[in-house]
Amino acid sequence: MNAAPLREFIQAVSHEVSASSDEAVLLPRVREHLARLVARDDWLPDELAQPDAQFYRQYLLYADPLDRFSVVSFVWGPGQKTPIHDHTVWGLIGMLRGQEWAQPYAWDASGQLVKQGEVTVLSPGQVEAVSPTLGDIHLVSNAFDDATSISIHVYGANIGAVQRWVYQADGSRKPFVSGYSNAWLPNVWDRSKDKA
Ligand code: FE
Repeated sequence: MNAAPLREFIQAVSHEVSASSDEAVLLPRVREHLARLVARDDWLPDELAQPDAQFYRQYLLYADPLDRFSVVSFVWGPGQKTPIHDHTVWGLIGMLRGQEWAQPYAWDASGQLVKQGEVTVLSPGQVEAVSPTLGDIHLVSNAFDDATSISIHVYGANIGAVQRWVYQADGSRKPFVSGYSNAWLPNVWDRSKDKA
């Protein structure tokens, strides 16, 4: 594992959330940092890249002590997908390995939850945004039914502790708190392990 890319990303985003709490200012800046992070694939520890046979994994990579942001690796086993869900805060999704599909949903004029636009395909190096202002409800799935996919997510809160919602096709909803799959976080602070 090369700890430097993730450490530098955490430092850069810490600077951004200290400089502004305005989503419109933060999103393009953090997007740039995330694009740089997922442009390479030599830094995610293997322990935090392991799929589960049944459910997709959400490994916390870093949580800001002031809850201003969190960084999570989503590891999709073959064919795995989320329910329709929201986030309630801004989020950026950067594809690291494999490929994923995202189907946005929105409320129509009669109050029905309906598919909004086409499925987005995310390939390695690409970044996508969600937020209550941009569109916050979607269903995400691994594009592959025979391979693992991994995306790196950044949210404007400690996302695993945020109370949010999963939706049924009929628009009914249930509260959920996602939590995280790991008990330990990667040590990105030991600079003696950096590769030249
Ligand atoms: Fe999501």
